[in-house]
Amino acid sequence: MEFNKARNIIGLRVLSDNVIWLWIKDQSVVVIDPSVHEPVIRYIDENNFHLKAILQTHHHSDHIGGTKSLIKRWPNVKVIASSKEKKRIPFQNVSVEDGETLNILGEEVKIIEVLGHTSSHIAFFLNDKNPVLFIGDTLFSGGCGRIFEGTYQQMYSSLERIKSLPKNTLIYCAHEYTRANMLWALNLKPKDQDIKNKLSEVEKKLSINELTIPFLLDEEMKINLFLRAKNLEEFTFLRVNKDLWV
Ligand SMILES: [Zn+2]
Repeated sequence: MEFNKARNIIGLRVLSDNVIWLWIKDQSVVVIDPSVHEPVIRYIDENNFHLKAILQTHHHSDHIGGTKSLIKRWPNVKVIASSKEKKRIPFQNVSVEDGETLNILGEEVKIIEVLGHTSSHIAFFLNDKNPVLFIGDTLFSGGCGRIFEGTYQQMYSSLERIKSLPKNTLIYCAHEYTRANMLWALNLKPKDQDIKNKLSEVEKKLSINELTIPFLLDEEMKINLFLRAKNLEEFTFLRVNKDLWV
């Protein structure tokens, strides 16, 4: 479990490399992309918390796998996802669109559509002096999501939108992929000191069983080749190269 100092957000590591984020305020919990239900229910019960809402960035099974069982346990919970999901999210009862703002746990949460990985992927942005972005599978530390339903142009535009957010935005993605991403980046840019430093920092954290996420946008823009791409052509080259890299 990892703690965020400004907000109480903890990460539960599940499956091979997924992280389920729990945003906690007072006794209330909001869960982001529950791939499974057991550890979420256990954590909430052990602490006498109450589940208020489930935020779904997109419909992939390793993001919605736990939703049905959480709804069985807490039937009145809000399940918030894109209006474009078209029944792919179990029990979706709040449909949102790009630019909409919601009040969740007393805070303003803005919906940012980030297409590319899927045709309906959204991110949840908490904008105050300590901004937070729940980004799902669009951006990872050192990498970005594979393009399954969208286009290269859509994914490139999504990353440009992320880059326009405040530089101190703390980004919570759904997978611990950082080490593999940095090994790929170093293979392409073997002399890049920022990438070398990041890889050694990541290896240090992993060696003491710490998560390498969340990450700061400002720092990520120095080490993530996809965020450093200057145009669509360079982005496309990188995405194709990464898909072929094992
Ligand atoms: Zn996905």
